[in-house]
Amino acid sequence: MTSPQRRWWHVARDTGLLDPDGAVRRTVFAEVSDLAARTGAINLGQGFPDVDGPEHVVQVAVEAIRAGRNQYPPGDGVPELREAVAAHAADRYGMRVSPQDVLVTVGATEAIAATLLALVGPGEEVLAPEPYYDSYAAATALAGARLVPVPLVRREGGFRLDVDALAAATTDRTRVLLLNTPHNPTGAVLDEHELAAVARLARDRDLVVVTDEVYEHLTFDDARHVPIATLPGMAGRTVTISSAGKTLSFTGWKVGWVIGPPPLVDAIRTVKQFLTYSGGAPFQLAVAAALTDPDGRTAHFLTELRTSLRRRRELLCEGLTAVGFDAVRPQGTYFVVADAAPLGVADGAELCRAMPTTVGVAAVPVSAFCRDGGPGQQALASWVRFTFVKREDVLHDALGRLEGLHRG
Ligand SMILES: *Cc1c(COP(=O)(O)O)cnc(C)c1O
Repeated sequence: MTSPQRRWWHVARDTGLLDPDGAVRRTVFAEVSDLAARTGAINLGQGFPDVDGPEHVVQVAVEAIRAGRNQYPPGDGVPELREAVAAHAADRYGMRVSPQDVLVTVGATEAIAATLLALVGPGEEVLAPEPYYDSYAAATALAGARLVPVPLVRREGGFRLDVDALAAATTDRTRVLLLNTPHNPTGAVLDEHELAAVARLARDRDLVVVTDEVYEHLTFDDARHVPIATLPGMAGRTVTISSAGKTLSFTGWKVGWVIGPPPLVDAIRTVKQFLTYSGGAPFQLAVAAALTDPDGRTAHFLTELRTSLRRRRELLCEGLTAVGFDAVRPQGTYFVVADAAPLGVADGAELCRAMPTTVGVAAVPVSAFCRDGGPGQQALASWVRFTFVKREDVLHDALGRLEGLHRG
């Protein structure tokens, strides 16, 4: 039985989970992960580290639990974390942020959902570069609004934003430009020209920019992460979202936050307080200590993490290229997207459903990050996403197994 008037049905439809006969299928992420578990395949599909974050941060969480910080934290987040997030944004990026401009959330995922539920509604549109993180389409559908994808384009050196296409897709119904930099899945880091052009568009068309920056610390070589909120005239119209999960390698802690001007944060708080109210009290304190970083141990951890991720990126990119993929070297995040077309593969989803069994490696198709049945999905049909946030020996093992694609 279908019920097209219900929000869940729109969520299923807009995330590509609705079969033509009206049945709802599972996400390809769940499918591939289950298959990997059943077959004992190496899972390079799901993006979580196989090594935990820093011990000194664990210690703070343990101490907080022992010290009895186990009841509801304030709805806005513990004051220590709001102060730490504000100070981090000021020190690292020169943002003028007060703790009152910070709202702590249950991961970036809740921040994204609360922000879209607060800022858009039926008849309105959210523009997002495609491919996009899967929760964007779901949260937009929950809000009753429409996500309009604008394809990233393959250029020399990686995927880039086509700002003219973004401008052309803007209508009277557009309310939000939903950015993600560093970008999952392509690994693109928006450069100053792209950011300036997006900022100009937002100012000209009076749009709110919502920017998902959960990989803000994970950039390589000379790629530099710049929050669009720091561009002229943007602080008042930008919601900056981040999270401790990717930065500290604690994806299960689900401590995220929103930074924005009072009218926007007030609207988001109104929704957020009825989603979870609050969560993760001892983890909030641990993340606050990590961001404050009085002795530089977090900075040291991050330097080491970036160095090791850069090495693992090279390993995976070179390995995938040797196997025959057209792999794009990412400027940030811990993902590589690679075209399987040179291997004679037209359908990346089919390849991902087969690989755990045929070669013992799991990955996810980039088509899962695209509007179902849209032109972007067609253009990226043969592309696959691999993560390199796994130990080097695991990556070596996986690449050895992928050699089997040649013979297969
Ligand atoms: C992992 C991820 C998130 C979710 O962050 P949580 O803090 O785990 O909720 C959001 N956006 C992108 C692009 C991600 O890769």
